[in-house]
Amino acid sequence: MKRIYLDHNATTPVHPEVADQVCRCLREDFGNAGTLYSYGREAKKLVDDAREKVATLIGARKEEILFTSGGTESDNMAVRGVAYGNINKGRHILTSTIEHHAVLETCKALEKEGFEVAYLPVDEYGTIKVDELKNAIRSDTTLISIMHANNETGSIQPVSEIGRIAKEKGVTFHTDTVQTFGKIVINVDEMNIDLLSISAHKLHGPKGVGALYVRKGVKMKPVMFGGHQERKMRPGTHNVPGIAGLGKAVEIAASDMEEEGEKLLRVRERLWEGIKKNIPHIRLNGHPTVRLSNTLNISFEFVEGESLILSLDDHGICVASGSACTSDSLEPSHVLLAMGCVPEVAHGSLRFSFGRGNTEEEIDFVIQALPKVVGRMRSMSPLYREFLKKQKESA
Ligand SMILES: *Cc1c(COP(=O)(O)O)cnc(C)c1O
Repeated sequence: MKRIYLDHNATTPVHPEVADQVCRCLREDFGNAGTLYSYGREAKKLVDDAREKVATLIGARKEEILFTSGGTESDNMAVRGVAYGNINKGRHILTSTIEHHAVLETCKALEKEGFEVAYLPVDEYGTIKVDELKNAIRSDTTLISIMHANNETGSIQPVSEIGRIAKEKGVTFHTDTVQTFGKIVINVDEMNIDLLSISAHKLHGPKGVGALYVRKGVKMKPVMFGGHQERKMRPGTHNVPGIAGLGKAVEIAASDMEEEGEKLLRVRERLWEGIKKNIPHIRLNGHPTVRLSNTLNISFEFVEGESLILSLDDHGICVASGSACTSDSLEPSHVLLAMGCVPEVAHGSLRFSFGRGNTEEEIDFVIQALPKVVGRMRSMSPLYREFLKKQKESA
């Protein structure tokens, strides 16, 4: 059976050119990038080239890019590093209720260490209210950490406005751009971003590698100790194949970002129109327009997201549910709950996220299959039967 992969916000297939780059590196460029002889210099060149590509895409300088093991490590390092590095100013951190767990759990750990964290709410579209953020800043606030686009809904946060406020108030600003890097134009100077997290496997690169941008002059403490790599902020022998793969993925993303965005938007809207036309009692989660062009999160009333996923998988269709993004948790999504979604509705939601390679034919196949699957599930739902009965009575 042909499989249709629509879960690119969880991870993306590695681009063939990236895979070639990684393999070449594994086979030929085994050197330690910290050594002086030719093997080492060749490895260092791969790392330097990748650093240049990442920096260029966000308008940063090469020295401001630190390679990490991915989005989670970058988020941990940013939040912890800035919190520890500014204790003389205060222990107050501002973040939101819809952040990725890599930020939320780091903040929770810091609370246990005596830091104070304010989790800002979002509106019905899953968007931060800038006024509330502004009002929440205190004289002892040292860090604002707000993601660029949410991984579950795709809602894009007002990062430029937040950056302007943070700069005005002299507060360091970190943003998790794991879902937007390579998809939306980012400029760290224009947007007043001080730290920014990136992960390769969300943009057709390999897993286990990412980067953290740290603006020159930002006060932060290292959270790992060891060798002198990455300006001593992130010690450890470089993951040269991974870093070279990230560099390649960035090069590809940068080469056709606008075109690709438009294509993804067409694919997304085709699916949304098809679903709207064929399935009643649904609703869109996330901002109707200010949203990643590759993300579509929909609640289907009277169905269970997990069962829906398994039935769609029988048709070869891979999507995510609105429960926590890990398949081993059945908690309703903290993001949907934060937007005011009731748990039953959050449980009945699906996230479709598109990437390079998805076609309109694939979407048409989903538009064919999904109404049947949803219809069958609803026909077995006592809640749905009751709803139909009530509807009839009141008619
Ligand atoms: C995937 C993701 C992460 C985690 O990145 P990893 O490289 O998988 O650790 C962090 N933030 C967001 C918004 C993500 O989507």
